[in-house]
Amino acid sequence: MRIWLDGGLRDADGARVSVFDHGLTVGDGVFETVKAERGRAFALTRHLERLATSARGLGLPEPDLDEVRRGCTAVLDANPVALGRLRITYTGGLSPLGSDRGDDGTTLVIAVSEAPRRPDTTAAITVPWTRNERGALAGLKTTSYGENVVALARARELGASEALFANTVGQLCEGTGSNVFVVLDGELHTPPLHSGCLAGITRALTVTWAGAKETDLPLDVLERAEEIFLTSTLRDVQAVTRIDGRQLAERPGPVTAEAMRIFDEQAAADTDPR
Ligand code: PLP
Repeated sequence: MRIWLDGGLRDADGARVSVFDHGLTVGDGVFETVKAERGRAFALTRHLERLATSARGLGLPEPDLDEVRRGCTAVLDANPVALGRLRITYTGGLSPLGSDRGDDGTTLVIAVSEAPRRPDTTAAITVPWTRNERGALAGLKTTSYGENVVALARARELGASEALFANTVGQLCEGTGSNVFVVLDGELHTPPLHSGCLAGITRALTVTWAGAKETDLPLDVLERAEEIFLTSTLRDVQAVTRIDGRQLAERPGPVTAEAMRIFDEQAAADTDPR
């Protein structure tokens, strides 16, 4: 496996990052997961823009997006994968925190791994912990993902693959690594960005391509939604057929099935959609 580190390709086995790297010690880093299919990165421009937004939000030096793009191409060329994910990690490295931060000493790692295609349906749970929509990290894709790790572990213990959060005012927000959509009276809705959710790239494409409305939704909407689905880079559009023990239809419902069809069709036609 060849990875990108320190501005070039290296063997993953011998690659070194300092044990004092702030990304490791205090979660001072940001990341992106990009779908890689037959050597092409999907929606890479959007992912690079979000990496820069997350870095700015965390006060990291501006990442060199030309280098990140070059690194992604080099890693994909060096490691052919039929279907996988590029993982881009950018941290403060050894640069001091606050206004003393220089551009030197940041860490950029790009790696790729195989990722199996996710099933069309899954189970999800809700968790009692909240997303802080007014927190400093709201909407940023940082390596401080501890809350997501705990919630996802709870989901797995209960036989589900995703855990959904409400925000501090009880509104439906997002999953640990996905955005959520619900069908109410036949209409498709998803929580707005001010709910504190990540500006998911699959979410944005689904809103545009499938015509969803961005609506404030109480968490208990999940008890009465006709259909529920998740979106993320690795799930694409994935139907939720069980939520907290409530069984929905076994197969994706009509609105979900149509969103899946449109997403697959549009994504196949355009590998870097704007
Ligand atoms: N919400 C969170 C917290 C995530 O980590 C992710 C995954 O990246 C998403 C939503 C979905 O975003 P995307 O569709 O860009 O993968």
